Amino acid sequence: MDSITGCWLWPGSRAGVGYGQTYSKLIRKKVYVHRFVYEHYRGEIPEGFDVDHLCCVRHCANPDHLRAVTHMENVMAPHSQSTAKVNAEKTHCPQGHPLIPGNLVSGKRHRDCKTCARENKRRRWADPRYRDAREKQLLWMKQYQERRRDARRAMESL
Ligand SMILES: [Zn+2]
Ligand SMILES: [Zn+2]
Repeated sequence: MDSITGCWLWPGSRAGVGYGQTYSKLIRKKVYVHRFVYEHYRGEIPEGFDVDHLCCVRHCANPDHLRAVTHMENVMAPHSQSTAKVNAEKTHCPQGHPLIPGNLVSGKRHRDCKTCARENKRRRWADPRYRDAREKQLLWMKQYQERRRDARRAMESL
């Protein structure tokens, strides 16, 4: 036990993300220590709920530091550092453009600034090397498609 924070630090093995893990003889499976402790001291974890660490110490097993929350609450909790939350809370891009509907690149999971994306594209096209490479690529694609068409015609006429 950590005397300052009161965390019960799990001395055993840990799962990939840092949660304490142990083997339960009862159910003959590996279990997360914090979930196991929560169920032991506080009762069953409702279906679809995560057990959140209020102390942010993933291998802590102090039931007073644990609470059952929905996954969304867990991700969005004030002490959470998850990428989803950090992104959702961003109001401006690094260049200071507001991240509001209309200025977001659509179809992406994280929120990208449209103004910056447009700027980057413009800057790329202003570079003659990029333009050259791009034109060569397009030409190659065209030739490739023509070759394929020719080949198909040749097959059909057989
Ligand atoms: Zn703790
Ligand atoms: Zn921007």
